[in-house]
Amino acid sequence: MQLVCLDLEGVLIPEIWIEFAQRTGIRELRRTTRDEPDYDKLMAYRLNLLKTHQLGLPDIQKVIADMGPMTGAKDFLDALRRDFQVVILSDTFYEFAMPLMGQLGMPTLFCHKLETDATGFLVNYHLRMPNQKKEAVQRFKELRFQVIAAGDSYNDTAMLMEAHAGILFHPPQNVIDEFPQFPVAMNYAALRAEIDSAATRIASLT
Ligand SMILES: [Mg+2]
Repeated sequence: MQLVCLDLEGVLIPEIWIEFAQRTGIRELRRTTRDEPDYDKLMAYRLNLLKTHQLGLPDIQKVIADMGPMTGAKDFLDALRRDFQVVILSDTFYEFAMPLMGQLGMPTLFCHKLETDATGFLVNYHLRMPNQKKEAVQRFKELRFQVIAAGDSYNDTAMLMEAHAGILFHPPQNVIDEFPQFPVAMNYAALRAEIDSAATRIASLT
């Protein structure tokens, strides 16, 4: 049995924080782990900013719903799900992703959770576990799946290395340079072709 694990942001939907910053005009929300490597500090900073701007979860979800998936994402995913079991592994939060998952036909998603207070403001976040993308692939292999994984950025590379076959989708140049072992697909047709060729290649593995 073959299973495809896909990253979400940058593969099927836009980068949520970046796009959210753009749509709301809150420039400070463009801050990423590149600017603040301490994820806990970064998240506290983000949640605080949202509160300052009086944005509760329903407001945030409305902005996210309007983003929509990337062009062609739904067709790509629908076709892929006809031929493979597909699990989306993401470091986003269910509360953020859900408005877009509906538009993608509700595929299976493993990610993290946010906590709101009684008035709907975000007060905390809960990571299900550290390194969940890689850990998930490892567990799927123990369940005797052959795993093909695709993602666009640095935080996907551990998952790609753990999988039987890893593919980079539309990655930044530094990731291409640092991980030359992975094929690179720049659009959905190329990604599907890489997945199919990986599936054939690993089918003979035991
Ligand atoms: Mg990504």
